[in-house]
Parts: sequence; structure tokens; C-alpha cells
Amino acid sequence: MSDPNDLPTTMACPQCSTKMESFWVQSRNPGIDVELDRCHSCGGVWFDSGELEVASGGAGGLEGP
Ligand SMILES: [Zn+2]
Repeated sequence: MSDPNDLPTTMACPQCSTKMESFWVQSRNPGIDVELDRCHSCGGVWFDSGELEVASGGAGGLEGP
């Protein structure tokens, strides 16, 4: 049976399988926020796929004069 409270948008912690809380933070790129998932059990913070590159200013951000 599926749990009606188990929303597909809520990730389970890869480390301890506790349901995590999503929150938004501003990335280094102005105007771009990224969604993170925080685990209250182990204190881990996880990025969804691709968001780490955005938050770290990736996508070619290392190139420059
Ligand atoms: Zn955890």
C-alpha cells in the first residue's frame, strides 16, 4: 500500500532514510534560488540533481581572464 503522506517531492535521506524538509536558498548567481533537502535526524543537507552546480556557480563559471 502507498502512503498518502509520502509525497514524491519529498526525498528520503540517503543516509538514514528519514523524510527530509525542503528549503530554498539563494545561490551565488543573483536571482537564482536552489532547493535543498535537510534531514533533521542526521543533519545532512542534500542537493537535488543539478542543483549543486547551480549553487556552486558552475556551468563554466571557472573560465575567465
Ligand atoms: Zn539523515
